This record gives sequence, C-alpha cells and structure tokens, in this order.
Amino acid sequence: MTLSRLVSLALLLLPSAAHAQILGFTPAHATSEAAVEEKLKSIPTPDEERRQHRIFTAEPHIAGSKRNNELAEYIRDEWKKQGLEDIIIRRYDVYGTNPKSASLEMIAPTHYAATLREAPIPGDDDSKNPAISGAWLGMSISGEVTAPVIYSHSGNPEDYDLLRKNGISVKGKIVLVRYSNPYSYRGFKALTAQREGAAAILIYSDPAESGYTKGKVDPNGPWGPEYYIQRGAITYDFMVPGDPQTPGWASVPGAKRIPIEDAVSAPKIMALPLSWHDAKPLLENMDGPVAPENWQGGLPIQYHLGGERVKAHLKIEMENGLQPYYVVEGRIRGSDLPDEWIVLGNHRDAWVFGGVDPSSGTASMMELTRALGELKKQGRRPRRTIVVCSWDGEEVGLTGSTEWGEQFVDELRAKGVAYINVDEATSGPNFHGQAVASLAPMLEETARTLQDPSGKSLFDAWKATIDKEKEGQRSGPFDSGAANSSLADTRIGSGSDHTVFLNFVGMPVIGLGFEGDYGVYHSAYDDFFWMNHFGDAGYKYHTLMSQLWGVTTLRLANADLLPFDFATYASNIRQFVNDLAKANEKNMEGRTPSSAQSSEARQPPLARVTWGQPPPATAMWGRAPSPVQSGEARQPLDLKPILAAIDNFEAAGHHLNESLARKLASGPIDPKLASALNHGMMQLERNWLNRDGIPGRPWFKHILYGARFTYAHLELPGLTEAVEKQDWPTAKQQAEILQHALEKNTKLLNELNSTLKP
Ligand SMILES: [Zn+2]
Repeated sequence: MTLSRLVSLALLLLPSAAHAQILGFTPAHATSEAAVEEKLKSIPTPDEERRQHRIFTAEPHIAGSKRNNELAEYIRDEWKKQGLEDIIIRRYDVYGTNPKSASLEMIAPTHYAATLREAPIPGDDDSKNPAISGAWLGMSISGEVTAPVIYSHSGNPEDYDLLRKNGISVKGKIVLVRYSNPYSYRGFKALTAQREGAAAILIYSDPAESGYTKGKVDPNGPWGPEYYIQRGAITYDFMVPGDPQTPGWASVPGAKRIPIEDAVSAPKIMALPLSWHDAKPLLENMDGPVAPENWQGGLPIQYHLGGERVKAHLKIEMENGLQPYYVVEGRIRGSDLPDEWIVLGNHRDAWVFGGVDPSSGTASMMELTRALGELKKQGRRPRRTIVVCSWDGEEVGLTGSTEWGEQFVDELRAKGVAYINVDEATSGPNFHGQAVASLAPMLEETARTLQDPSGKSLFDAWKATIDKEKEGQRSGPFDSGAANSSLADTRIGSGSDHTVFLNFVGMPVIGLGFEGDYGVYHSAYDDFFWMNHFGDAGYKYHTLMSQLWGVTTLRLANADLLPFDFATYASNIRQFVNDLAKANEKNMEGRTPSSAQSSEARQPPLARVTWGQPPPATAMWGRAPSPVQSGEARQPLDLKPILAAIDNFEAAGHHLNESLARKLASGPIDPKLASALNHGMMQLERNWLNRDGIPGRPWFKHILYGARFTYAHLELPGLTEAVEKQDWPTAKQQAEILQHALEKNTKLLNELNSTLKP
C-alpha cells in the first residue's frame, strides 16, 4: 500500500466509523451501496448456476453451429425475462473454417491409423454424444502430405535450433510437437513450423503436461485421459485478432474484405491435434539422436528427435468461407449517467461442451444478469449503464468481441469506463484476478467483502493462493504476474475477449476466474460430468463468481467518483521499466546483437524471471561490450527521462488520491464537478494509445500492455521488442512515445486535481 492510499483510507475513516467505506463513494452512498451489494449477493444460487450450466453444456456448441446460434436466442429470451433492456443480437459475417475430414496414418516402419477421436468415459453419458467432433484445429489449411515425422519438442524457435545443431531439417516434413513445455500458444507453434518450412504440424498432449504424470485422470480425477484431444485455433491473432479479412474494422454484413491470401493472421500450414494415444506409435518408432532430458515426456519410452524412419500420410480437408457469428447484447440503462458504460462479457462458443471453457462463465453470467434484473425490478437501477455481451467465436480468433469493439470503438472511447471479462469462471477453487493497475486496489477491496467457500474472505483466500504460487513457482515457468505486492495480476497478455477493449479501444480491463487442476481443456471431456466431479461439484464457485462479478460491476456503476488509483498505476509502470532494464542487462551479457536480431518473436520470457531488487533509478543501457558483428554503433538508451516522468505521474496520482478522498469524505458532490472528474479519469487510459500501434502490429495500440506471439503478457510492448532486437532507433522513438504519454497523463491529473483545490 502506498502512503497516499493510507492517507486516503484514513480520510475515509474520518467522518463516521459507522458508515461503510468504499473507494469512490461518499459515506452516505457507501452505506446504500453496501445494502445493494448485500441484496445482489443474496440472489445467485448454486442450484440455478447448475441448471444454467446444464443448458449450456447439453450439446456441443462451436462458433457458427446451429446449437450455438440457438443458445444466442436462448440468452436473448432469458435476458428479456430477467428484465434487461435494449437486447439485440448483432451479426458479423466472418471468415471461418470447419472440419470436413482428417486422417493420419503412419506408413513406415509399421502401419498405424490414428483414431483422432476421444473414447467415451464410463459414467459420462455426454462423452458418447455422436455430435462430438473428431480432432481438428481451427484455421488449419487443407492439404495432403506424405513425409517423415520429426519430434520438435514444444515447437518454439529454440527447439528448431537444437534440431539444426543435430543436422535435422524439418523442411517439407511433418513436425510433431507437444502442447506446453513450456506453454506457448498453439498458433505461435504453427507460425514457427510454417517459418521453418514444415509441411504440417501435429500437436499432442503429453501426459507430463496434462495427464497421468500430474495425477488421476478422468473419470477418476481432473487430468486428461489417454484419448484427450486439445482442439483449438491456430489463428495468428497475435498479429491482428478477429476476422482475418477485416483487420481493424467490423465484419458487419457487406463490409469490405481483403483477400484471404493477404491476411496476416490466416495460417498457411496444415495442423492437427493428437491425443497421446495417437502420438505414442509415432514417438516410439522414431530413430535419430536421443532427445535431450527436458524434451523427454511422460510416456514410458525414450523420446528421439526422429529422422527418416517414421513416415506418415496426413490428409486434412477443411471447409473455408464466410459464416455468421452472433453477439448478444443487452443492458440496464443507468439512472443518472446512462452515457457512462460498464461493459461485461463472456464468450458463448465452445470447442465441444465447454464445461469450464466457457460455459462455467456463461452460467455465472446468467445468474449475474438475473440478479441485476432483479435489482432493477426493485427500483435499484445502477447509476451508470451496464452493458452485457455474449461473445461468439472467441475460440477462433477472439472474433465476436473484436468485431463488436471495432464497430463501436468511437462510442466506447467516449463512454467506456471499464470492461470486465469472465471466460472460464471456474475449474477449481483458486482465485485469479487480473486488472489494469489503476483498478487493482478497487478489485482487492471488493474481494474483502465476499465470502470464499473455504470460510475465509475471498481476499484472504486469494492471498493464500498467491503466497502458495510464489512459494511453489519461484523458479518455475510462470510468475504470479502480480507487481508491487498487490494480489491482482497487473500483467495482462492476450488469449481472451478483453483484448480489443484494452489494446484497441483503450479501456481499463478486469478479468476474473477461479482455477484448479484441469487437464481436459478444449476436449470433449470438458463437460458437465467433469464440472460435477472435479471442477465445482457444489457450484459454490460459480455462485461466488456471479457475486464477485456483480459487486465489482456495481462499484464501478454506482461510484460517485470512479475508483481509479493512478499512483498505483505509476508504480506499476516503474516496475515494468525496471524489469525491462534488468532483462536488457542480462540479455547484453549473454548475446551478440546479431543473434538477438535473428530471433524475431523469439520471445524470451522476460517477466517470468524473478528479479531481486529493482535496479537503481539511474539504470542506463548501452554499457555492454560494443557489437562485433553489427556495423551500427550502439545507441545507448537513457531511461532517466522516463523514470522522471513516472515520478511526476506518481506524484500527481498521489495528490489526486488525496483530493478525491477529501472530496468524498466531505459529502455530496456537485454533479458537474463529478462529471468532469470522471470523464477526465476515463480519458486517462485512452491516452496510453498510440495511433500507429506497436511497430509491426498497428492494431495493438496500447503502449503499456501487449502480448507476445506466445500469448504471454508483454509490458511496454513497442519499447521492449525494440530493446530485445537491439534496434536502438526504434527503441528511442518508443521511449519518447512513452514519455509523452506519461507527461500528457500527468498534466491531465494535475488539471483534475486543480479543480479540487480546497
Ligand atoms: Zn474461453
């Protein structure tokens, strides 16, 4: 906690200890807010969560399918009954792929025909549903190839380097890679294989990552069984999300479209997922060098790199073309401030039944909208407008939300207060909350008012989870993402529907989810049975999600002065800059510029490294030995101006926190003044946008938050990528953009502060 936050809280405590205190509320309004929140929390029930969950998980509902479209109509009809307003189903005609047929046969040294199906699970009737698809990956191209199979580990660039060192080229061959060792988005694996000249990529689920090595498998435990197949899309949506043929504008019917050949996010490689049952015959017949220790997996065989011995015949037929996706939109109009919007969203489409992903979130959304409708019927309309959306095609390329965000970008920039995303509501009991740093304190405060099923407050349960993660993963592949000892993960990557709001529109975002052991992701086994046996048998976490999502929404919707904390934002940005400086120093020690330059999108996991003390504020780059292979002299990049600008921004944030707290404590606020302050605070996030986007990826406009091609979070994306490539002219330019944005926002905060002078 920063000093000014202590001061703020102390000021809030002043008027009367009997009043509730909530960030952004006057004492009187905090009391009425607490009462509304209590009412809201009392409405969602585990039985209703379960009933809704069953409706959404009854049948497979992939994007574009009849069932998924029927569910859109179901949501519309339910929302009408619940009392939502202005309900509309919006149609987008987008490029999509559907599987027609796929076959994989090993033709040497022996014959094996891959099943490409998931065997039914005893006791789980849904797993026998004939509508379950076979193995496929969205956006694979059609084709046919007969070629040797090479084991390429996780399919990341360094894996191909190792193959090359062993004299193995994958040109024209089929590469077999596993899903996550370490994790990288499957689309990044596909792009990497495409760049390496492979003819096709097979991605399988090794038991070491999601199966028996981890624990008991379905139906005896939460992990993936022998026939578990992780479907998914390989869309290069890290370049530009949404419909590949409408980059930056909405795919409303009749919209202008670019040819698919020109679409940078459309893959140009065949791809298929496999269960370990189907991967094992390939792996155990391979010759070539023994794979290194960290390439060995959980199967009881010795993994080899492969050579000419194993040959396979792969044939994939896809149906490509335009198909309609449907976004359901509803709202509850605000009583006082209808033109200030809190936007909520969850995607509806699932690879199969979507037990966790996304139907747990959809069930929680339906119980939340029931609660909001109930409050409205009781005359407790929110002060601001709450807009709720059921997205389509998230699984394909974040498609529905992206098209919707692109369609309403101007309105959202004028009216959007924040976007709250729930994708997977629950796969277990461990809370994971993400927030743009300015909203981290309010999210943590909100967690204090909710009760976790463990008996602790949600805040305490959350803290216990973070402490455990820090303990267990200090040297592991993932950090908790939290910065500045906050609980909220303020390092926000991509991979869900918040992306368009943060990176394109410039709205602050929050993401909520409960997590646990979950080895059936994107498979037919991610279903109602799994949820009722392993994920959330009593639907208590679903219920808690509806409550949490609702209370967070109401605080933003009802606040007198929006509960942003820009001092916290500033100290977060300072940490991003310090981390970058530290990583760069490390980088300079170990690499020559030319090797760094050749590794475009190589994506060293910067923020996953646990650093000790932050470097001194005078950190300066350029002290490494001068480049030996580059003709250009190194241009040192001086961070001092940025760090000074952050100091100023932080000071302005502290002052504003204090002034806002004083104003709130003094009672009712003049609506004109409140409006000016709130609109100023809403503008702040927009000011982090750079019109030209980050270098090479113009769609991604936010200069603080981005994502790597792997989907991993990437802070200060333009600056970081330039530094990693040691492209100093670009780094200098990106540093200036950052500095100007900091100065602009400091000025904005100082102006807001001056309107509050006592
Ligand atoms: Zn999802």
